[in-house]
Amino acid sequence: MARYTEAVCRLCRREGLKLYLKGERCYTDKCAITRRNFAPGQHGQNKRKLSNYGMQLREKQKAKRFYGVLEAQFRNYFEIAEKQSGITGENLLRLLETRLDNVVYRLGLASSRPQARQLVTHGHFIINGKKLDVPSYIVKVGDVIQVSEVSKNSPHFKEVKEVFKGTVPHWLSADVDKLEGKIVSLPTREDIDIPIAENLIIELYSR
Ligand code: SF4
Repeated sequence: MARYTEAVCRLCRREGLKLYLKGERCYTDKCAITRRNFAPGQHGQNKRKLSNYGMQLREKQKAKRFYGVLEAQFRNYFEIAEKQSGITGENLLRLLETRLDNVVYRLGLASSRPQARQLVTHGHFIINGKKLDVPSYIVKVGDVIQVSEVSKNSPHFKEVKEVFKGTVPHWLSADVDKLEGKIVSLPTREDIDIPIAENLIIELYSR
């Protein structure tokens, strides 16, 4: 399966903001953005003014990196978003936000999106009563996500129960004792708290 292999903190430094790719470390002083908030590489500290195209490109890269999606799949989401009714940019973000790996992260069952993706591919989740190991599965209203009975006793999920803070976005509901969650509604743009100017991405693809 395709995935990013370069050091993930470099991605945050490239975008100049926290992408929260390393779980707990992202909230400590060890975070590379806290320590060295400039782009990696020899010329990383030389700030250049971006062209319009450059800004559009950066915004797309940011969105891809937040959600851990590669170019071909991202483009595919754009094409689906374009065919849906409503605002294309919001449709695009909603598709990304409703990926199963993101939902697992939002439910607090993983400490980062990359970890959520790994947990899904390792087959720890049951969706609507059936095992599903596809991180890109787009959830629907009413879907129920459960940790499999076998996985409930793993050290990871025992820790989840201990540290779970009980807050999930209002479009989801979570029962941490049962290690399960439900999709209550689809997220609106206001529910998606990532700093992306999706209109720039749409402009880029519309060139
Ligand atoms: Fe990004 Fe987390 Fe690394 Fe900080 S610790 S740079 S937020 S991945």
